[in-house]
Amino acid sequence: MIEVRNLVKRYGDFEAVRGVSFSVKEGVICGFLGPNGAGKSTTMNIIAGTLAATEGEVTVNGCDIYEDPIGAKSSIGYLPEQPPLYPDMTVEEYLAFVGGARGVADLWGAVDRVMEKTGLTDYADRLIKNLSKGYKQRVGIAQAIIADPKVVILDEPTVGLDPRQIIEIRSLIRELGRDHTVILSSHILGEISEVCDEVIIIAHGEIVAQDTLENLTNRYEGRTIVDLTARGSADTVRRIADSIPQILDREIEQKPGGMVRARLSTDRSTDQETDIRETLFFRFADVRMPILSMSCEETTLEKVFLELTADRPAPAAPEDDTPPADDDSPEAIFAAQAMANVQRNAASPDVPAPGEPAPDEPDAEKNDSPAPSPKESPAPEPSAEAPKKTGKSRDKQSDDDYTPLFGG
Ligand code: ADP
Repeated sequence: MIEVRNLVKRYGDFEAVRGVSFSVKEGVICGFLGPNGAGKSTTMNIIAGTLAATEGEVTVNGCDIYEDPIGAKSSIGYLPEQPPLYPDMTVEEYLAFVGGARGVADLWGAVDRVMEKTGLTDYADRLIKNLSKGYKQRVGIAQAIIADPKVVILDEPTVGLDPRQIIEIRSLIRELGRDHTVILSSHILGEISEVCDEVIIIAHGEIVAQDTLENLTNRYEGRTIVDLTARGSADTVRRIADSIPQILDREIEQKPGGMVRARLSTDRSTDQETDIRETLFFRFADVRMPILSMSCEETTLEKVFLELTADRPAPAAPEDDTPPADDDSPEAIFAAQAMANVQRNAASPDVPAPGEPAPDEPDAEKNDSPAPSPKESPAPEPSAEAPKKTGKSRDKQSDDDYTPLFGG
């Protein structure tokens, strides 16, 4: 019913809508969800034919909005964010005025029909300026459907309403969905999930997700995300993540000071234990990567929405001074060996197994211990350059603190 292709809208140098494409099938209530400033109203205005796009194509009910604007607009009823009401007209006068302008054949029949549908019959003679905001919004919806359009576009229809009015307007929108294809823009996920069949999520002028609500819920609800920070290399964490089958998604980032931040998602649909914190603890211990923090949270659609639409990070800073570990680095080799050890559940002659007693000879300890990579070294301190003679070195500290928790 609605096809939008590569839509771009620039206001001067500012690109408010950046190559948006989507389609909405007939009979669907589609939610256009995004935070304020995401580009929702701009997109709605373009589809409704009240704003020219900079680039792109819009087709409504088979009519191109630019080549056949009358054909396209005759299929659309639009309630903009600011309803176009004349406060000094009565409800009935106003609806008759809009219906007349749209060339509705049975004008008074149509006025009666929409007043009934929107619960305005008892307010027909009331001046619009004397209506509550909720009823003004009903008049806005009534004018949008007066010509019985195939498509109804509602831009933030519940903004500024009180909770009861919001419930009433949402139920009215659901009823509209029986006879019309509806696009409803909103910044409230709860509203979209309550009313809509499908959802398009827009942020910073771009579509970031588009699916049925059911699919989005199945995909994101009930996931568990472990967020951890450890000292070591991102490559090692990637290998650990690869070795844990429950992990479906991962974001692993090397941070300054030899730190790694990892967000690892598991899904309850894998039939396996989703709480992987213990497994992670042991795997990190096996490769002697200290975990400095670890937290676990269940995802909800709300959290996913907030994440998808979060403010963009500042432009990428120049690379930090920690070079990414490459596969030939001593640390990577050590990590690979340690992982192999874990898998074989046996100590390698070259690499001390976790919990293997540290050699008595201090020099031997130094030689036998896996060479710490720059990333495993403590953050540089004023005294960091001094030879590791006085006090405990990090490796010694690790050995002392490391207690084997399982045989190996
Ligand atoms: P939303 O409806 O999602 O809140 P809008 O489509 O109204 O977002 O606006 C998207 C972006 O475009 C915002 O940053 C807004 O400030 C900007 N914008 C909207 N209209 C204009 C305009 N006429 N001139 C310049 N910038 C505009």
